[in-house]
Amino acid sequence: MLTKREFYIDGAWVAPHEARDWTVVNPSTEEPAAVISLGGQADVDAAVAAANAAFPAWAATDPAERIALMEKVLEIYNRRYDEMAEAISLEMGAPKKLAHQSQADACNIEDAIRTAKDFNWMHEMDPATPGSMIIHEPIGTVAMITPWNWPISQVTLKVFPALAAGCTMVLKPSEYAPLDAMLLAEMLDEAGVPKGVFNLVNGDGEGVGAALSRHPGIDMVSFTGSTRAGIAISKAAADTLKRVSLELGGKGANIIFADADERAVKRGVRHCFNNTGQSCNAPTRMLVERSVYDQAVETAKEVAEATTVGPAHEDGPHIGPLVSERQYKRVQALIEKGIEEGARLVTGGPGRPEGFNRGFYVRPTIFADVEPGMAIEREEVFGPVLAMIPFDSEDQAVDIANDTPYGLTNYVQSQDGAKRNRLARKLRAGMIEMNGRSRGQGAPFGGVKQSGNGREGGVWGLEEYLEVKSVSDWAAE
Ligand code: NAD
Repeated sequence: MLTKREFYIDGAWVAPHEARDWTVVNPSTEEPAAVISLGGQADVDAAVAAANAAFPAWAATDPAERIALMEKVLEIYNRRYDEMAEAISLEMGAPKKLAHQSQADACNIEDAIRTAKDFNWMHEMDPATPGSMIIHEPIGTVAMITPWNWPISQVTLKVFPALAAGCTMVLKPSEYAPLDAMLLAEMLDEAGVPKGVFNLVNGDGEGVGAALSRHPGIDMVSFTGSTRAGIAISKAAADTLKRVSLELGGKGANIIFADADERAVKRGVRHCFNNTGQSCNAPTRMLVERSVYDQAVETAKEVAEATTVGPAHEDGPHIGPLVSERQYKRVQALIEKGIEEGARLVTGGPGRPEGFNRGFYVRPTIFADVEPGMAIEREEVFGPVLAMIPFDSEDQAVDIANDTPYGLTNYVQSQDGAKRNRLARKLRAGMIEMNGRSRGQGAPFGGVKQSGNGREGGVWGLEEYLEVKSVSDWAAE
């Protein structure tokens, strides 16, 4: 079992100031997987001091120098790719195939490099106002607080644009899945990222997370996680007026019209169950036009019953366990609530799937006849649980889809282009995905309303870490 109590601060692995052990649990077996430390204020102070000290020199480097360093990290990342996939699989329960094919994907690093290469760091504002220059500059030292569900993806979506921008940073990964981030720290170190530019302090939300959020030496917090924590961070950051970028929860509607392609329902159920339902952008509310609703419920049942569940270390197309006992209990309580509130349990339900008495496994579950306002319709379940709702008209579908505090991703399935475009405009969400087509490479990821205010990926993800400076009477060079 891995034991690594040190934090990566100022270019070295250093012992924590306070020794508070934390056991990372393998969700497939409930056995300990690793021991790390949870840091405190003194560790945060040390990491912030290192990042602040490194900032002036790093911010002054040429973007080409930073890009070259990122390319070196990418090379190391690709060399150690299998280790990364295995760390993720172990800590958060993603089965081998998912961990290797999706979870560990280096696309965010590649995207950040491409974006930085194309970015215009300094340009004239307008030919009509000669000498008026716009300069994009790094915001400063950034605190990054990340969750466990797509752990390295969420970390790389922050670290690489911030490196490209010329920011320095302190990362606090999720205490449930810190191993991937610690591995990345080793890679950044090997690549020769200057000391103090990247720092990592492990900890929990109340300790290190809160200390970073209120720290006067932090200029910005970039957070991905729950809406609850996003609110706490925003409040803690308010006294020092930091920029706070939030990527929060979601309760995506997947609107399936009668003219949808024949694979739409199957695709929607599978998407909902992907990563064992632990994705902020999962299409967890399936809204189906009434004329095809009964058939859709039947198809959803078949897909759920064909979905196998198994341990992360086994090969195969199965879904893994949930990440933790806490999440297991939460998902079980929401399934019970669904039954209590009168939704029709089509398949799945409470308890572990047959054959399991250990591990945080959940039965792939379909609820039909879910009514707007029920807990399983309002709350993010974060498990393999689909809520199906019939609708009678386009307007009603839009009303149900928009009647949520969240606004991350909505989905539309229809062969009618004009209808799709109407819906794309009417749905209140940061992202609309239609007919199973994912958004383009480098498209911005983020939400509206209580899904947050950040946009990660592409040029939008880089600009999050930049300040805009406006200069007059710039002399031609
Ligand atoms: P969480 O909010 O409990 O934890 C996320 C991170 O925040 C962890 O590192 C945690 O230690 C830290 N944290 C918790 N409380 C804090 C506080 N008061 N102050 C500072 N830091 C604090 O979320 P989770 O359970 O790890 O992850 C699941 C949530 O993340 C879901 O709600 C999911 O929708 C959301 N999520 C959103 C996106 C997105 O891009 N919109 C992506 C993935 C996950």
